[in-house]
Amino acid sequence: MIAVVGSLNLDLVTSVPHHPVPGETVLGGDIAQHPGGKGANQAVAAARLGGHAAFVGRVGDDDAADVMLGAARDQGVDTTHIRRTPGAPTGRALIAVNPSGENSIIVSPGANALLSAADCSEAAGLLREARVTVLQQEVPDEANHEAARLSGGLVLHNPAPAAAGSQLPPRVDLLVPNRTELATLTGTSVPETLDEVTAAARKLMGPGGAGGGAGAVVVTLGGDGVLLLEGARTAALHIPAFPVHPVDTTAAGDSFCGALAVALAEGHPLEHAARWASAAAAVSTTRAGAQPSLAHRDEVEALLSR
Ligand code: ADP
Repeated sequence: MIAVVGSLNLDLVTSVPHHPVPGETVLGGDIAQHPGGKGANQAVAAARLGGHAAFVGRVGDDDAADVMLGAARDQGVDTTHIRRTPGAPTGRALIAVNPSGENSIIVSPGANALLSAADCSEAAGLLREARVTVLQQEVPDEANHEAARLSGGLVLHNPAPAAAGSQLPPRVDLLVPNRTELATLTGTSVPETLDEVTAAARKLMGPGGAGGGAGAVVVTLGGDGVLLLEGARTAALHIPAFPVHPVDTTAAGDSFCGALAVALAEGHPLEHAARWASAAAAVSTTRAGAQPSLAHRDEVEALLSR
């Protein structure tokens, strides 16, 4: 089983002719509503690939809460440990997309900001049993720390969104940053070449490492694929991206993390799991949107056998 501790946001998406500057009002298109939030996306990614995903999180007591709970359940995510929070709004993301497809996003965390260490303690049974516990950074650090402490399996931490000063959990078996998040964690400029990525990722490993001593680091590199560093390995392993025709890379990272958790929970070694997750993420880039774009298992197998 996979435990995902994290955020649920209702995404409100509109098109704009251009992004407004301070003080400016622009007219947008009709608003579309989609279930989102990094935690929810990763749990749905895992469930859609056949993983048994259970969620620990908070929604408010509004209509958006029903939308988020319904969407997670429809996708086969176990919602037993998602708490409704009286008086709080459900998290929302306000997303404006300009004609070149660039987003500007405001996240209003709402109930996500109230996820506590106590909430994770209440889910202790689930966290102890889980083969993989998946964490991100859209909920308070204290919740992540407690979840990592209670986890009986592997702790996979996706340090997203990048937040300088955010405290990584005390125990991380597998850290999965993208290039920007890697730069934030190491306090360096964004690494470009594979050598620069490797050098930065190494700083996060082992006792005393900036990543809390991560056992392994998997850096996602968008269209450049994945770079893998395992504790025992001396050399980094680069897995090139699968050749697809991407139309929208929204949630590629979430797709990758959910799929990685599924493969690891099934007992596959990290290298195999990273390749499999890279295929799942590649599939997700060929469709628009976040959750609607997430891959099904047969699509991943088909891409791998091509
Ligand atoms: P994030 O969304 O967190 O920034 P990335 O952009 O690094 O994450 O994407 C995550 C993974 O998705 C990549 O490591 C890769 O496996 C896959 N991916 C992303 N963009 C592409 C692409 N253009 N072609 C193929 N695979 C891609």
